[in-house]
Amino acid sequence: MKEQPIIVQGAMSVETAELIGALTDAQEEPFGPWRCVRGRLFGHPVVIQETQWGMANAAALAALAIERYAPRAILSQGTAGAHDAGLDVYDIVLGARTVNESAWQSHYRPEGAGAPYDDLKQLGVFAWDAEKQAFTQEVYHAADEALLAAARRAAPRYPRGKVVEGTIGTCDSWNCAIDRVKFLRRFYGSLCEEMEGDAVAQIAQSFGVPFLAIRIISNSILKNQDPWDLGTGPACQGFVREVVREYWGD
Ligand code: SAH
Repeated sequence: MKEQPIIVQGAMSVETAELIGALTDAQEEPFGPWRCVRGRLFGHPVVIQETQWGMANAAALAALAIERYAPRAILSQGTAGAHDAGLDVYDIVLGARTVNESAWQSHYRPEGAGAPYDDLKQLGVFAWDAEKQAFTQEVYHAADEALLAAARRAAPRYPRGKVVEGTIGTCDSWNCAIDRVKFLRRFYGSLCEEMEGDAVAQIAQSFGVPFLAIRIISNSILKNQDPWDLGTGPACQGFVREVVREYWGD
């Protein structure tokens, strides 16, 4: 049987370059214009994908990688903005679950009554539910337990900040209004926001591939830790290497 690699996605080169640099037997295997590098970490097969920003890119590359590599697991990792005031730049969030924060329905309002951003109900997105044998609309996608357990084992060795667990919110948006960030924290329970994780969780679930999102806080408008700290991309990849090592059971 073909060896089943772990797929690790990051949006930008600052979120993938360390991992690619750490590979042995590296082979460039692009999908069209997207960079994709297969190789070995600690002797085990992994594939690193540089997806560029956003949900459609990350989800499409996840589906392509599932077809080409039949992966053992998929990790979406990289930077994120804080939704929780307790988080500092360089803290890491393990996505016990992810949520698509653009999946909502607004309540009816007549013309002229305005469209307040917080007058919403949660909607969710459709993913295949193997138990129900149907596509079901789910607000949250839970992480794979074995991947989460591997990340928990790696957590005490992370030197740059806290490692916490919770909800990671995904949307093709960048929220800089503090009231909206506080609303998202309340409404979805998200600890941070990024632009890829839940879109990949949705596809991974539909194909029955174990998934985990891991994000490092690169900016926090709640703490005035803006703009984006470029050093966080490599720090996150250092942690992800340890998670991969734990998952392989080394
Ligand atoms: N502003 C910087 C960095 C962009 S980071 C620049 O211009 O280079 C964009 C990526 O980081 C996205 O892929 C997203 O997943 C993540 N990200 C980091 N902080 C974010 C935030 N506050 N909101 C949404 N996505 C964020």
